[in-house]
Amino acid sequence: MRARLLTAGVLALTAAGCAENPAPLEARRPTLNTATATPPPVMMQGFYWDSPNESGSGEWWDFVAARVPELAKAGFTHLWLPPAQKSHNNPSMGYDPYDFYDLGEFNQKMGVETWFGSRAEHAGLITTVHAHGMKAIADVVYNHKSGGGLEYNPNTGTSTYTSFTPLSGAYQLHYNNFHPSTYEQSDQGTFGDMPDLAHVNPDTWNVVLSYQKWLKNTVGYDGWRYDYVKGFHPWVVRDLQRNVGGWGVGEFWDGNKALVNQWLASIEYTASAFDFPLFYAIKSMCSDNSGTGGYDMRSLWGSGVLWDHPFNAVTFVENHDTDVHSPVVNDKMMCYAVVLTHEGKPTVFWRDWYNYNLARSGTPHGIERLVWVYQNLAHGTSSLLYADPDVYVMQRNGTPGLVVMIIDNVRSWKRQTVKTKWPNTTLKAYAWNSEKDRTQPATVKTDGSGNVTLSAAPRGYAVFAP
Ligand code: ZN
Ligand code: CA
Repeated sequence: MRARLLTAGVLALTAAGCAENPAPLEARRPTLNTATATPPPVMMQGFYWDSPNESGSGEWWDFVAARVPELAKAGFTHLWLPPAQKSHNNPSMGYDPYDFYDLGEFNQKMGVETWFGSRAEHAGLITTVHAHGMKAIADVVYNHKSGGGLEYNPNTGTSTYTSFTPLSGAYQLHYNNFHPSTYEQSDQGTFGDMPDLAHVNPDTWNVVLSYQKWLKNTVGYDGWRYDYVKGFHPWVVRDLQRNVGGWGVGEFWDGNKALVNQWLASIEYTASAFDFPLFYAIKSMCSDNSGTGGYDMRSLWGSGVLWDHPFNAVTFVENHDTDVHSPVVNDKMMCYAVVLTHEGKPTVFWRDWYNYNLARSGTPHGIERLVWVYQNLAHGTSSLLYADPDVYVMQRNGTPGLVVMIIDNVRSWKRQTVKTKWPNTTLKAYAWNSEKDRTQPATVKTDGSGNVTLSAAPRGYAVFAP
């Protein structure tokens, strides 16, 4: 949530390989057991802030559905959609939820349809997502509600906007479902002045639990992106995961890795967390092109949650909130080279793929090729092979594995000798980019101990593998 205020989360996944340029690549691709293997997950965040301005009001679900086939082909396995329910404001991105069960069906608030479309159009999108082998991730907002009517509140002795009797008729909420409640005065946080749900009231909990079961069993969602989890008890996410199932990721927006790790422990690892600590590190790396490259590449290794909890870290470069408030504008592909070669589950931001034209389909220089790299090469554990203030070389130790070299120096190509896991092997670049120089880094041969000298362009990266 946090519309114009802050936030949002991301997640995306894909499947499938990308097309090779001329042809040679296809031949060199490792063989996958595609009949049985589930492709490593890559999530697409299927919206950006105010994205219906691009499609037209009420047309976003159809706009996305038309692009699902190409996203599936590019390898995305998960599609994260914005909060689908009818909300308070007109228009709304969904982070001020009013009627959980109105997906564009009842004439209330902004009208029958949401800003994204009708319930039928939403259902069509979910069907299309599943028809292409992808999973649909719902953005669920459980910290607060918005748009209730005024009622006398004995808990405060005043009148509060806590009377919710929405047209779906599926549930009602009143003052004691919110803080301060007779069950609890407050929880971890509030969002603005919106009524703050008191999940310790069993009636409140049942509304939330029933809603998420409905999203899964009736609407067809496969997983969850939990908005603003800093605002409520961790057990809410833990118990929803255990009672409803499905893949989940929480928006615990904090650059302090210890705090994100603590949240993961508190939900007993039933879901993942967006890797905000990594986000801040790579944002700094991409943004700081001052001097010779101001970021110290030695700081990258270990910066994110993915180094501590690789199976519970959802990595990303940008989301609907960060894009609005302070987007990465320099050398953004360096950031994607990190999230799509390292451990963790990567997310690609819609606007980076489509509007900022970083997919660069059919070339080795964009996100599309890196998604292929993530799904076909980036396997196994990780080793740091070398780092200095300008150069970072990391190896994925699985099969086939890869070595990625990232250079933040502004001025010159860098060469570095490292010891890889492959003796007497020819290594070539599968993906590379620099906005300054797109010359393909040289193909090289390792010695009997795996030693080899690799090179990459300034403000660039190269991914090597046999
Ligand atoms: Zn948020
Ligand atoms: Ca709260």
